[in-house]
Amino acid sequence: GTPYIEVTDLRVKFATEDGAVRAVDGVTFSVERGKTLGIVGESGSGKSVTSLAIMGLLNRKTTTMTGEVKVEGRNILNLDEPELRKLRGRDISMIFQDALTALHPFYTIGRQIVEAYRVHHDVSKAEARKRAIEMLDRVGIPQPDKRFKQYPHEFSGGMRQRAMIAMSLVNDPNLLIADEPTTALDVTVQAQILDLLEDLQREFNSAVIIITHDLGVVSQVADEVLVMYGGRVAEYGTVEQVMRSAQHPYTWGLLASMPSLHGDPDEDLRPIKGNPPSLLNVPSGCVFHPRCAYAMLNGGPCDIEVPQRLPLRLTNEPNHTVACHLPERERQQTYRDEIASV
Ligand code: SF4
Ligand code: MG
Repeated sequence: GTPYIEVTDLRVKFATEDGAVRAVDGVTFSVERGKTLGIVGESGSGKSVTSLAIMGLLNRKTTTMTGEVKVEGRNILNLDEPELRKLRGRDISMIFQDALTALHPFYTIGRQIVEAYRVHHDVSKAEARKRAIEMLDRVGIPQPDKRFKQYPHEFSGGMRQRAMIAMSLVNDPNLLIADEPTTALDVTVQAQILDLLEDLQREFNSAVIIITHDLGVVSQVADEVLVMYGGRVAEYGTVEQVMRSAQHPYTWGLLASMPSLHGDPDEDLRPIKGNPPSLLNVPSGCVFHPRCAYAMLNGGPCDIEVPQRLPLRLTNEPNHTVACHLPERERQQTYRDEIASV
């Protein structure tokens, strides 16, 4: 199908007191309606900045953005604030990790959903109220009539997250961006919210982007996965491709630190050693090389040349792309011998 959103070579730089921060460095992907893309990475990977750029939420005075973010054929990087405001909440909507940052503490949940709806729809208060209560019901909030009149602090964490989802879907957006939507919740509630998001996506047929540090979340709900590291794309493929045959050493690290793969959450996991790169002082060559157990460093290429994102040739999977200097055969072998067998 035709992608609803097409991001091409997106680059984002911030001016700070300490110099220019290069937060996103050449990111390309697209998402169709009815599909979910998971963007995975640690803090500093550029995943949240990418989502804010898509929402038009970055401060244009201190931010330089190049490339394209095309939504329905228009590059939203060129839209002015009034045009962006029309798009936000109606065509593109966002849910956040912490519902309290999205919900106003002094207004009832119902009033906030009603207002979110009436910004984009010329309807009476009674009609908007009916719509809001329907949405609260749809996201699994019991007694929606009563809950409508309550304030955010009267909701549990999980119920607040549901209310925020109701608010973000009230205008039937074509693209929903969820930034760490379940990170603040306990495991049981997390699973319920992910199930809900899956159901709603089917019902609303929207394109969904889930931003997360957790490959487990992605494997549960996404169709495709974009692994980001240091502002760049390390690996991209369908969830099936990446779970069956991950090709980037950073993805291997993420896989190894997924509790669900090991069964026992108390087992000593193998998190990736070292820290995410400073975006003020990005490592040369492959941005992952200081942490990579497979880096080829004597005379390069890993500390010298930036690896290009290339499709897998041996298995003929043109949509599975990886940015790593290791020969493909070696990566396949290493994955089989050291990662998949663990
Ligand atoms: Fe590791 Fe080199 Fe591949 Fe980067 S390019 S992930 S440093 S092997
Ligand atoms: Mg974030």
